Amino acid sequence: MHTINFSRRRAAAGYDCAMSDAYGQLLDATIQHLENLKSRGVRHVAVSPETLRELSQSKIISPPNPTSKTTAAPKISAPTSAPKPVELPLRLPNETSASQKPPFDPKEKAAAFAALRERALVCVKCPHLASSRKNVVFGVGSIDAQLMFVGEAPGADEDEQGEPFVGRAGQLLTKIVQATGLSRAGVYIANILKCRPDTPGQSAGNRKPTSDEMTTCIPYLHEQIDLIRPKVIVALGATAVEGLLGKTVGITKLRGNWQMYRGTPLMPTYHPAYLLRNQAMSEKRKVWEDMLAVMEKLEMPVTEKQRNYFLKA
Ligand code: URA
Repeated sequence: MHTINFSRRRAAAGYDCAMSDAYGQLLDATIQHLENLKSRGVRHVAVSPETLRELSQSKIISPPNPTSKTTAAPKISAPTSAPKPVELPLRLPNETSASQKPPFDPKEKAAAFAALRERALVCVKCPHLASSRKNVVFGVGSIDAQLMFVGEAPGADEDEQGEPFVGRAGQLLTKIVQATGLSRAGVYIANILKCRPDTPGQSAGNRKPTSDEMTTCIPYLHEQIDLIRPKVIVALGATAVEGLLGKTVGITKLRGNWQMYRGTPLMPTYHPAYLLRNQAMSEKRKVWEDMLAVMEKLEMPVTEKQRNYFLKA
């Protein structure tokens, strides 16, 4: 087993004085994250092939020149002394499903989840969102849920109340959950983004998260999923699919087709907000068919009545 002191490694690599603030913050956050994982007994981290490629190129942001009068954007340049790669054994995406992993100790799991929540609640990685938000919307439900729903980002109601999916779309999602026989408290609901995307100069309305915002925030969701270990994930809408799978294929094409998120079956379906905009019975039925597939995957009983919801008489 590898025992790595990440902070020492960073200092030993001679980076403390030579790195830009932005790079330093990023590195600190990464070290903090790895040490939190390590303290919970995690000895493997999943790294995508793209990340591995980028890591192996070892590029860093060069520090700003203090004598320069302009505030030009920091340049990307190769470090003068590249750090040795962190030698953690790597788990490839899609390799291990939740059911193959050894069970967590319930107390440790609850503590790790609470610690993760505490970190997210004070997050300022997106300064523009941290200053515009009323609340960080971490997630709601059971940390032992077999089924997890992932949406896009909090809207005004969610920002106000600090809970995901409480507005009109959320109320519809709650009805969908209940129609399966489950309860809102028995599943887990979270978003790709934990903060409401800001809309400067606008008094109402929402906007899609930017890809930078998604990349910055998604580690919280990855950790939530790693701890909850749901048997099935439902991705609500195209942004949730993009955030979790990196796929930008239209949701119309993807919905109803099982995908894999790091070993966990993922069902893409329409976002409930779409169903509010398009009240056609055919669209409701599509989402319901996706939910029937989810219920079957979870080996939940399906009644005749449930099977026939939203079918024309
Ligand atoms: N839409 C989302 O995607 N998430 C919420 O929490 C609310 C609305």
